[in-house]
Amino acid sequence: MLLSLLVVAAIVVVGVLVSGYELRDLTRVGQPRNVLDDNGRQVELPYAQGPSTRRLPEVPVTTTGEYAFSVIDDTGPVRFDPCRTVRWVLAVEDMPVFAEPVVFAAIAELQLRTGLEFEYLGTTDEVPDFERPMFQDRYGDYYAPLIIGWSSAEQNPDLEGPVAGIGGSNAIQGSHGEQRYLRGGVVVLDGPDLGLYLASSSGEAQVQAIIMHELAHVVGLAHVSDSTELMYETNNRQTTWGPGDLQGLALAGAGPCE
Ligand SMILES: [Zn+2]
Repeated sequence: MLLSLLVVAAIVVVGVLVSGYELRDLTRVGQPRNVLDDNGRQVELPYAQGPSTRRLPEVPVTTTGEYAFSVIDDTGPVRFDPCRTVRWVLAVEDMPVFAEPVVFAAIAELQLRTGLEFEYLGTTDEVPDFERPMFQDRYGDYYAPLIIGWSSAEQNPDLEGPVAGIGGSNAIQGSHGEQRYLRGGVVVLDGPDLGLYLASSSGEAQVQAIIMHELAHVVGLAHVSDSTELMYETNNRQTTWGPGDLQGLALAGAGPCE
């Protein structure tokens, strides 16, 4: 029996007026630039990069079932911006043998079901932690990417008992205005537990399902009460999405562009 926890940190963003507008600010005259208090450091939130067209086509909703979003604003659920890639890195410290292709398979599933494009940036020596700064020199001027990594119940009390992983992301405003988007993201997986699964027969599908569940939290989905959905809080050896999961994932990828 596996229990997974949702952690979504809602970071409070305050807007302040800044002097020295850049040329592109002319379309935003009178609108304050949003600033993030990032672990005590005041960071002007970066402009959206690239064209405002979806990277991948929207996924049509073809099933109905139970799904839920973790963070809902007046304008709807808070989601990733589908006009930018969801950049991600893999923290390989303590990663079980044979786990890497399973992570990539889970990412491919999320991309297929959400229509969000995931962009792999490589491995990192950053330690996956929900308290991580959203902006880090190692990742440049843009938001720190989604990090997927490994820990143990000894290192991380959140993984004690039946918990196989935890996942979530941050709801943060765009460079201007009130609209919030999901940014960053952290998935911490229980290396010793999942390593044991991987060594057992059919364990690979089980581990992939656990990672898919945590990644669904990252893109905004919350737990549901229907035990036939993968977003049910307790994993009952189900390895594929349920109808509500698929509906929720399609909608999770259909958010507004910044
Ligand atoms: Zn969960």
